[in-house]
Amino acid sequence: TARKKGAGAYEIYRPEMMSRAVENTQMLRELNQAELNQELRVYFQPIIDLHNAEVIGAEALIRWHSKAYGVVPPYVFIPLAEDSGLILSIGRWVLRESCRQLALKIASGWPNDFNIHINVSARQLYQADFYDVIIATLNEFRLSACNLTIELTESVLLEKGTFISEQLGRIRALGISVAIDDFGSGFSSLSYLHCLQFDCLKIDRDFVSGILKSARNEAIISSVIRLAKGLGVPLIAEGIETKEVADRLYELGCPRGQGYYFGRPIPLDEWQAPGIVK
Ligand code: C2E
Ligand code: MG
Ligand code: MG
Ligand code: MG
Repeated sequence: TARKKGAGAYEIYRPEMMSRAVENTQMLRELNQAELNQELRVYFQPIIDLHNAEVIGAEALIRWHSKAYGVVPPYVFIPLAEDSGLILSIGRWVLRESCRQLALKIASGWPNDFNIHINVSARQLYQADFYDVIIATLNEFRLSACNLTIELTESVLLEKGTFISEQLGRIRALGISVAIDDFGSGFSSLSYLHCLQFDCLKIDRDFVSGILKSARNEAIISSVIRLAKGLGVPLIAEGIETKEVADRLYELGCPRGQGYYFGRPIPLDEWQAPGIVK
């Protein structure tokens, strides 16, 4: 069917649109089977204290090693999963698998309070049992609330209803941290900083990578650093690719960072014990 576009104008059907739709349908069928076929992986990227380059946690990032397509990047399949509702089972898998892997590491001597960040989409938060699933998962692996941070992106923050903020309130009351992801990108705005309670702010890598190249970028970062300080929450700079950027961020007062310079996302099995990385 032709989609309505603006004042009375209809988007003209093009054959490419059909093939994309068919392709999406096929990919979705594969994605449906991905968990069963053991094609999903969760990789972990270190989160660093910029003061001493110590690892203070890790972000869990899903990977799909599809037999049909090869390695499909999250920006391709996460939107498909969100639109289809498949994100509910995938998200649950990520939570459980991340907790399972962390518990093994803690059993082998990693710090009890090692913190993992999990990306959560709006649809997951809308599930009435999301809270119960989190508690059950932590219990199953004998983890505590301090082991978990949930990261929220725009898709969550655009939801204006009170249900989400109540859900987040209950989660925070347990002692689980809530981080705002990709701050500064897309439609993210100051208004949700104003109406949501959170424990950590992550500034989008778009602002981080160019910090040494322009005074404008540096001014933006500096003001977000001050904003986070004023709100009393730690700031994590995403996408740090060089030592120079890491050093400059630290000089400007940014407490934490994450990026290829410190470590790419890799399976937790391939991690050394957390410690100083650079
Ligand atoms: P995100 O949560 O903002 O994750 C950070 C992304 O930046 C990751 O991409 C990571 O690999 C990449 N990255 C980290 N350091 C650097 C760097 O120094 N340079 C560059 N260029 N990139 C860096 P990835 O793994 O492709 O994930 C993309 C997005 O997909 C994530 O963005 C997140 O929004 C979403 N995502 C990933 N895993 C999950 C998941 O389990 N559930 C949900 N709902 N979303 C997920
Ligand atoms: Mg994230
Ligand atoms: Mg991010
Ligand atoms: Mg992102």
